[in-house]
Amino acid sequence: MKKKILIKVGTHVLGRDNGRLNYNRIADLVDQIIILRESYQVILVSSGATRAGKEFCQFENEKDPLIKRQMLASIGQGRLFQVYSDFFREHSVVTAQALLTSGNFRNKNSFQNMKSTLEGLLENNIMPIINENDVTSHKESSFGDNDQLAALTGAMLNIDLLVLVSDIIGFYTADPKRDPKAKLIRKVERITPELLTLCENSLSEGGTGGMLSKLKAAELATQHGIPTIVCSGKEPDCLLKAGRLESSGTYFTPVNEKKQLSLRGSWMTTSADVKGVIRIDLGAEKALKENKSLLAVGVTGVEGKFNEKDVVLIQNNEGIRIGTGLTNHSNSVIKEFVKTKNKPKGVVVIHKNHLYTLF
Ligand code: GLU
Repeated sequence: MKKKILIKVGTHVLGRDNGRLNYNRIADLVDQIIILRESYQVILVSSGATRAGKEFCQFENEKDPLIKRQMLASIGQGRLFQVYSDFFREHSVVTAQALLTSGNFRNKNSFQNMKSTLEGLLENNIMPIINENDVTSHKESSFGDNDQLAALTGAMLNIDLLVLVSDIIGFYTADPKRDPKAKLIRKVERITPELLTLCENSLSEGGTGGMLSKLKAAELATQHGIPTIVCSGKEPDCLLKAGRLESSGTYFTPVNEKKQLSLRGSWMTTSADVKGVIRIDLGAEKALKENKSLLAVGVTGVEGKFNEKDVVLIQNNEGIRIGTGLTNHSNSVIKEFVKTKNKPKGVVVIHKNHLYTLF
């Protein structure tokens, strides 16, 4: 069975300075994907619908930027997919389009449908090309620049490598476009809160995400055991180098081993609507590794407002995500457990049957 690689290509990689699509670049990326397909099952997440739409219309009088973006995307998506399909057809590869929203991930039935459809396409050697369904996405829940969409899709499909292709070589100590002293970080072992702060304001011009969203995507992927590479689409053979783990960009090491989760487990750890966070101590972490339930004695902190049966994240004291589960108690009850010196013995906070760990 071939390993799975998901490649996400950003708008800046596909566009020229004159605002049009860069057809040579798309052809080159397709050529590389064709070679990668000899050793990997490849999934492509591509932005660029809005950019492609601008080749036809500008909507200069449209006041609402969201409506403008949605109209441009609805014009450009067909064009973008057609360009990819034409280049893939030169290699006799059949393409399939999937337009997804964050709501589709939160809904368990949609999640199941997306997963089975995409897996079916891969098994039949079809090339899936994914983008956000910009026309139906709400402003608040939009994926923006597709990094999160790529990481979620990757975790859902249990991929082996995530490649985020950008217009910047990799992850720097500062924004290299503004700070000449910025240094490229070749390898990131762990995405710490300090690292997230480091790149908080580095939104790439014209795009909607920048390095912060790449870091968050890499965080989700590496916690699911998926190594992640951020590299430049302008570098020759960038995809082939990434596929051989020889990229000159940044490599994010997986934090956990890759795990084969059930459909419910994979939905719970990636997409279910999380209402809060429960932090646990080392003893509880050890118990969870042995597939035991989470007991009140091991809980050290709680965040958010939730009721019993809500979905919560479980973090260790370093803030690393360990898993997800359905809580037996509300946040206020758990807060009492945390405060009292004599912790109640044997009280189950999350039962092992409703708990999905990432290690
Ligand atoms: N879904 C958007 C598009 O295809 C992504 C825009 C972006 O990269 O920020 O245009």
